[in-house]
Amino acid sequence: MKHNFGAGPGILPQEVFKQAAQAVIDFNGTGLSLLEISHRSKEFEAVLDEAVRLVKELFSVPEGYSVLFLQGGASTQFAMVPYNLLPEGGKAAYLESGVWANKALKEAKYFGEVAVVASSKQSNFTFIPKDFEIPADAAYFHITSNNTIYGTQLQQFFPSPVPVVCDMSSDIFSRKINVADFGLIYAGAQKNMGPAGVTLVIVKDEILGKTGRAIPSMLNYQTQIEGGSMYNTPPTFAIYVSMLTLNWVKAKGGVEAIEQENLAKSKALYAEIDRNPLFKGVAATEDRSHMNVCFVAENPEHEKPFLKLCDEKGIVGIKGHRSVGGFRASIYNALPITSVHVLIEAMQEFAEKNK
Ligand code: PLP
Repeated sequence: MKHNFGAGPGILPQEVFKQAAQAVIDFNGTGLSLLEISHRSKEFEAVLDEAVRLVKELFSVPEGYSVLFLQGGASTQFAMVPYNLLPEGGKAAYLESGVWANKALKEAKYFGEVAVVASSKQSNFTFIPKDFEIPADAAYFHITSNNTIYGTQLQQFFPSPVPVVCDMSSDIFSRKINVADFGLIYAGAQKNMGPAGVTLVIVKDEILGKTGRAIPSMLNYQTQIEGGSMYNTPPTFAIYVSMLTLNWVKAKGGVEAIEQENLAKSKALYAEIDRNPLFKGVAATEDRSHMNVCFVAENPEHEKPFLKLCDEKGIVGIKGHRSVGGFRASIYNALPITSVHVLIEAMQEFAEKNK
């Protein structure tokens, strides 16, 4: 058995894989593969409706918000957000808490002025800056809720005088959020929600249509809202698997129940990192992520042998991102706590052998 700690695409529930595999052969007894049915068929429309309904239910999405399933990944949202929200000659505020935030703000520069309110770049993004002001004349304030590469996560969201836009690619559906606190939320699916190829957007309708700019149809949220995420052929398979995963979240007791499980997993792992003399955490303690746990070996020579031990125990995807080094254990929703225990035991065994 494998224990998948990979950062992305990340682990999805085993039962979702089984249901998805069956749907590829014969979708709900139609005698057709999910991959060959029309996106305009009543069967697929029911899938999309259910996926939207589940997002609304799991996050208690208030009235006045639209839920979209788009293509192009979170990286397309880096451009689509300013295209739709940043008026000509206007300004947008960004918090630079990692490379993904940096990529997002670079795209915004194509459309207007960018005010970087704070950055932790100098410390290789080991913490999330909290001491800054959000300009009240900005069109929006962009943040990244979980910095996948560095293992930092916002434990609380900032009060803001302007609409908050949040990249939740690596912690969507991992914890409770109050959608009303945000103007727009986006997330590439491929960590906690589904396969690569679909991107979730939850947008407050009233913030749209204010730029005075002509926007190409595919990149215009309004077109996508009017088309019900079917302006063109949507990524049917990715939406179907997302729907199955959201159903799995619901069956587990919803986002609150998942959040408790995630806290138990991260608490156990950080406790071992802090206890074990051979390893140390990378991120500032107060910003530690409950999704991506980054740590390094005190002695760099221990890195390779520890990875070898992990390999022997079926622990995969644990090598850290090249810009941080060491190890990164991504403990997304579908990773069972038993897998976290296997990793903890491997760390203990390694410490025992290397006393
Ligand atoms: N934002 C965050 C926080 C991410 O972790 C990633 C990918 O890992 C991205 C954006 C980029 O997502 P995509 O590959 O869907 O464009």
